[in-house]
Amino acid sequence: MDISKSQSYISAENAPKGIEIKTSTRYGGFSNTPFDSLNMGYFTGDDITTVIKNYYYYQNITKTYNIITLNQIHGNTVLEVNKKKSAEIMFSKADGLFTNENNLPLGVITADCLPVMIAGNKCISSLHCGWRSLNAGIIDNAFKLFKKYDDIPVYAYIGAGICEKCYEVRDDLVQQLNTLYNPEQALIEKGTGQYLLNMKKLASNALIYNGLSIDNIEISKYSSCCSKGFYSYRLENGKTGRMVTTIQRAVR
Ligand SMILES: [Zn+2]
Repeated sequence: MDISKSQSYISAENAPKGIEIKTSTRYGGFSNTPFDSLNMGYFTGDDITTVIKNYYYYQNITKTYNIITLNQIHGNTVLEVNKKKSAEIMFSKADGLFTNENNLPLGVITADCLPVMIAGNKCISSLHCGWRSLNAGIIDNAFKLFKKYDDIPVYAYIGAGICEKCYEVRDDLVQQLNTLYNPEQALIEKGTGQYLLNMKKLASNALIYNGLSIDNIEISKYSSCCSKGFYSYRLENGKTGRMVTTIQRAVR
């Protein structure tokens, strides 16, 4: 399933009322090859003024202003943020954001890793989930913050990311997967010591482990690697742009 070249973003379809979740595509921006064209990654080697132009374009068409993003490091830290602290938190070395404020879009930058967005009745969280951060309990850490604010997640969105057909991993990685999330359900053995890993399944297992019902998890049908219109780190050998996925509780 591909993206139309006139489409600069896709939206979650089943998010609760007031929760807006959007993922940028690679269409409509200003970046040149290999970042063409709507590169939302600040740390990719693309011309930074072009990336900023892409953000101006994107924020206007999505009405998603002042997107906070991080300098992601495949860890399990989730930072609490509010409007007052947003400039201070911007570009911190971490992989998750959490807030109880409205109109504060939290962003995750990806090209194959999964954006996992969680909404409670008051709070929201955005998580950058590769296998390392998933494994290290980034989803568990986000759920702890909901609890701290006396809230409970009611919905989660697993966005466009690498699909189970494209993500080949070796036995040494498989041996390290966190058994709490039933990784055997997310693996298909391909050959001796080689497997295909279904990251969306692994992430949904981690959400279910924390108490969310499968009925309240929306999984994007798009693959960053085989749906045309996204950036894929694996497919493009690391020389490519990034999508941004945002979540906000919008009060307009
Ligand atoms: Zn794929």
